[in-house]
Amino acid sequence: MKSWTRREFGCLTGAGLLTALSPRKARGQAKARVVVIGGGIGGATVAKYLASSATAVDVTLVEPRQSYTTCFFSNLYLAGLRPFESLGHGYEALARQYGITVIHESAAAIDPAANTVALNNGSKLSYDRLVVAPGIAFRDRALEGYDDAAMEIMPHAWNAGPQSKLLRRQLESMEDGGLFLIVVPPDPFRCPPAPYERASLVASYFQNSKPKAKILILDAKDKFNAQDVFQDAWNRHYPGMIEWLPAQFTGGVTAVDPKTRSVITAGATFKAAVANVVPAQMAGRLAQQAGLTDQSGWCPVDPVTFESALQPGIHLVGDAIIGGDMPKSAFCANSQAKACAFAIAADLAGSERFPAHLFNTCYTYLAPDDAFSNAISFQPVDGKLKRVLNFVSKVEEGADIRRKAARAAEGWYDAFTQDVFG
Ligand SMILES: Cc1cc2nc3c(=O)[nH]c(=O)nc-3n(C[C@H](O)[C@H](O)[C@H](O)COP(=O)(O)OP(=O)(O)OC[C@H]3O[C@@H](n4cnc5c(N)ncnc54)[C@H](O)[C@@H]3O)c2cc1C
Repeated sequence: MKSWTRREFGCLTGAGLLTALSPRKARGQAKARVVVIGGGIGGATVAKYLASSATAVDVTLVEPRQSYTTCFFSNLYLAGLRPFESLGHGYEALARQYGITVIHESAAAIDPAANTVALNNGSKLSYDRLVVAPGIAFRDRALEGYDDAAMEIMPHAWNAGPQSKLLRRQLESMEDGGLFLIVVPPDPFRCPPAPYERASLVASYFQNSKPKAKILILDAKDKFNAQDVFQDAWNRHYPGMIEWLPAQFTGGVTAVDPKTRSVITAGATFKAAVANVVPAQMAGRLAQQAGLTDQSGWCPVDPVTFESALQPGIHLVGDAIIGGDMPKSAFCANSQAKACAFAIAADLAGSERFPAHLFNTCYTYLAPDDAFSNAISFQPVDGKLKRVLNFVSKVEEGADIRRKAARAAEGWYDAFTQDVFG
């Protein structure tokens, strides 16, 4: 695998991914109907790029929420470094500028034989192509005692929105000297670096507001990506505040007790002042109900077209899919969505299909002024998405580079959300 310099990679991803789009053009009459379920990062991007393509296509986007709250940068909100409102994005531009029909409803069922989607309000949509991008769901009974009621006491905050607000309120009202406990789920899960970024940013909040507080991370794994970079930063910025315990040390988390805000492992019980319990994950419920998942709980897809390996004519993108080497990130969902939109448009038009170029660029905060970045490219190889090139931040990187990455991340957020929501 070739290692790239930061400059080389910046050119590649910048030029290839954030291409400006022109609004929808006038088209001929016979338009194919594409329905996209899920207006998160993957679904909104597919809808926008299909509606912007030269192929005649009517795009309908089905999403229950009026406004989407990004998980990315929600850790900055938890640390009091960003207002909640700054994470919200509406669908007005997708409707107005790109001619997408946006329906604020949940999809209840898919009938692949009749090519229809039933909505919760009782209506039905017919499609020529269907794209499903429902994100993640939490596995039932993954942790004994962690049910819907427990989530309101020990929030996961792994879907941004009311859960993030609840966790922020709990952190604000926690007494100085309290224990903030983070339970990290087994792989694969949404955004692998995010639990450790959360610990870092909450520590920066504690340092200013509750300097005697402690953070304990109970992990389902024995190691994690960029562990050396995180642990170096924890020693430099927050000495003695963050402790990480791997599964081999605790035996793994088996249960929670919301009444006492306790987390139970094979060998001990940990009582928290605030507990952030992130459960094991699988593809969103609709994908399960529609027979789009295999025994892993995730959706197998063709790595070029993102068509389901189980249901022809239905495409899937984002966290719900088995992405091979691609992590479950917003950047990956957006990159897969563009490849999927181009493949559908080419198929409908009967034109040549170009090989997919897929990327992940990830900025991760260690402190408000200290962030690192990873940039990876992927290609379909033997039916799987394989990592081909990467740039990974190193532990010895200077403070100046890290400061610049923290500022670059802010620019990335604005450009990226503009690319998705118009
Ligand atoms: C704390 C945290 C930090 C993160 N930081 C980063 C980061 O820095 N960079 C990065 O790239 N990624 C980051 N991520 C990951 C990123 O948020 C996800 O990978 C991304 O949102 C996945 O996009 P998606 O479209 O698959 O799912 P989502 O964005 O979750 O969208 C799914 C959508 O489907 C809708 N839906 C579900 N079921 C139905 C239905 N039946 N009918 C209609 N609609 C439905 C939902 O309402 C939702 O809007 C982070 C995640 C977390 C939790």
